[in-house]
Amino acid sequence: MKRNFKLNLKSNNFFKSFFIVIIIGFLVIGIIIGNLNKKETVKDAKFRILTSFYPLYIMIQNITDNAQNVEVSNMAEKFTGCIHDYTISTTDLKKFEKADIFIENGKNLEDFTEKIINIYPKVEIIESSENITNLIEDEDEINPHVWLSIENYITQIKTITEKLGSMNPENKDLYLKNSEDYIEKLEKLKSDYEFLNNIKDKKAICLNESLEYLLHDASIEVTSIETDHEQSVLSAKFLGNIIDKMKRENIKVIFIDKDDDTKTAKILENETGAKTYVLNSEMSGNGSTDDYINVMKENLEILKNIKY
Ligand SMILES: [Zn+2]
Repeated sequence: MKRNFKLNLKSNNFFKSFFIVIIIGFLVIGIIIGNLNKKETVKDAKFRILTSFYPLYIMIQNITDNAQNVEVSNMAEKFTGCIHDYTISTTDLKKFEKADIFIENGKNLEDFTEKIINIYPKVEIIESSENITNLIEDEDEINPHVWLSIENYITQIKTITEKLGSMNPENKDLYLKNSEDYIEKLEKLKSDYEFLNNIKDKKAICLNESLEYLLHDASIEVTSIETDHEQSVLSAKFLGNIIDKMKRENIKVIFIDKDDDTKTAKILENETGAKTYVLNSEMSGNGSTDDYINVMKENLEILKNIKY
């Protein structure tokens, strides 16, 4: 009897220890899961903004300056041409997984947006150009490079600020204040160069359609030829026609973008004695919040010093 009793006691202890180990195990697993969830909640508390390309990234840096729990990243960060010609990569597509909101230029500049809507239906999309009325149309197609008109850029800021405020009310007042400050600087820049409009008879050849809004704002009469940007090669006949036009109308100025090939411009220069000016369409830069303002100022300084 006694012996049996001892045995029972032993097996009881064994089961007790076994259950304790199991309970501790569950507790540990519970704590780990709890912590993981906690981390997840902290992650989700952030308002994640993804911008399409560089000019919008700089714009949003200004609007969201000092905002709490906001993360801004740029989708096409390592891509330096126009997003127009961009085929979305798997790496960039992945960035939409965590994004709450995607800010695009619109006007068909991002032709992958449809794909994003299908794969990530929860990502809100802001078309920054939706309220722009100052549009340039070439052969029934709207030129989407609207940000190179300061006036348009301001309209984009206003549209985005309103939408961000309604989606992220926590920072609404800050967004408004930041936008006002930024717009004030832009208005100043715009009015500083308003005099460019008074210079008469400014004619030029533009070899990159990105620059059209900038030139249009300075009242330059532009013959726009889409070359490098469209990756097309101009035929000898087409080039001959441009050269004739330049000679006939005494056009002495050619504009290209900083990332453009200079081949066509060189041919036109040699045939007509015109001079090429390199402008910056702000597709890439140093990432500072003032980069758009600095680049536009440099562009306007170049326009100021041209002899037509
Ligand atoms: Zn483009």
